[in-house]
Amino acid sequence: MSNVKEEDLDVITRAPGAMPPSVMMGLSEARELVVEHCVLLAPRWTALGDAAGHVLAELVHAREAVPGFTRSAMDGYAVRSSDVATVPARLRVVGTVLAGEDKGIVVRRGRAVRVMTGAPLPCGADAVCMLEHTETDYSGRVVLVKESAERGENVRYAGEDLEAGSEVFVPRTFLTPAHIGVFASLGIETVLAYPRPRVGVLSSGDELVETAGTLKRGQIRDSNRPALIAQLRRDDFDAVDLGVVPDDETTIASVIERAGSSCDAVIVSGGVGAGDRDPVKLVLWQLSNGAMRSVHVAVKPGKPFAFATMGETVLFGLPGNPVAALVSYELLVRPALRYMAGHENLDRPRLSAVAAADMYRKRDGRDHVVRVVVQARGDGRLQVRALREQGSHQLHSMAGANALAILPDGDGARAGECVEVLLLDTEHLTTGY
Ligand code: AMP
Ligand code: MG
Repeated sequence: MSNVKEEDLDVITRAPGAMPPSVMMGLSEARELVVEHCVLLAPRWTALGDAAGHVLAELVHAREAVPGFTRSAMDGYAVRSSDVATVPARLRVVGTVLAGEDKGIVVRRGRAVRVMTGAPLPCGADAVCMLEHTETDYSGRVVLVKESAERGENVRYAGEDLEAGSEVFVPRTFLTPAHIGVFASLGIETVLAYPRPRVGVLSSGDELVETAGTLKRGQIRDSNRPALIAQLRRDDFDAVDLGVVPDDETTIASVIERAGSSCDAVIVSGGVGAGDRDPVKLVLWQLSNGAMRSVHVAVKPGKPFAFATMGETVLFGLPGNPVAALVSYELLVRPALRYMAGHENLDRPRLSAVAAADMYRKRDGRDHVVRVVVQARGDGRLQVRALREQGSHQLHSMAGANALAILPDGDGARAGECVEVLLLDTEHLTTGY
């Protein structure tokens, strides 16, 4: 439990008027509402070693050519292609150049230079004969070339990867390890990138115990905070553990208010409903000076949801049920945080998969989000199978799902019909569970 000082206890006394009622909204409408209230974080110069997983905020040009000089792509002999047009051809070996050496040897007619992969191509040469296509005598001074090489064969020309001055990456590029390699190849050590949003995670519930404590009857362990923190880290966001608090307005408010000075976003799970001990909406309403939106999202699980802004910090109130908390994060919080982090593509890949068996559901005016396993079939099409346990408290089946299927209001899908799926994890797409 967090420690709250007396002087922090006045923070929820300032919101005007009465708290507005919850508004019913479809999933996409709720997502739009959230994303449009988020702002892009200010770009920062970022060391190359930390830049993977960030989104680029600048237009990058090549300040030099890559490679910077013309070099051999093979171990072999640098030759004049005209000398090996007819084979076998016997050439005099006038030296050796290794990678990293710059010897200034010239290849004249009838001559060859032994070169290793990466060595600068000697002047006069315009091709490299692979070692495997040659024979040398005992002295190494004569080489017999047995296969001809055309001009440019096994040669890597300067600027073939990147020409000096060319456009390398545009703003909003997501930086992967390959991008980091390209920057390194250009000698670029820092890049202007959008920072990772720093996200505080708080669990609210009188019944909650920090993960490893002993339980009295009626108590449960807090699983939302560890799961959300792990998910945030997996999504390339910085997570800050704000602990577990009871369903007490002043305590929740003071923790959130304090986190606001260092966090771009705060996620609270639990206490967002309309029960006797559900204080989160009131707190968010107070902290945002009345700019809180309480939403009944037309989705199952994940119906209660609250969103507010406190200065530059965005506040999310998620349902306490563990699956509902993770599903709301996926559908509403993750796109918002990705927007703040500069991503252009906010959502998980949404694909169409063939139902392996009937996926029934009842009509209730809501989209159903179903934990599923998606696998690639031999013919390359995706097949989807619903997991058995679908209760919003049954977290174990969330761990076995690699995707969420969205079943729109209706009777569900029959075997063989196509279902829309959100891929959470592509790692097990072909191997299965
Ligand atoms: P609430 O949204 O607070 O009404 O909680 C709904 C259900 O989720 C209740 O059964 C809570 O005990 C449970 N719950 C709330 N917060 C957590 C949490 N952090 N970890 C695990 N279960 C929780
Ligand atoms: Mg509760």
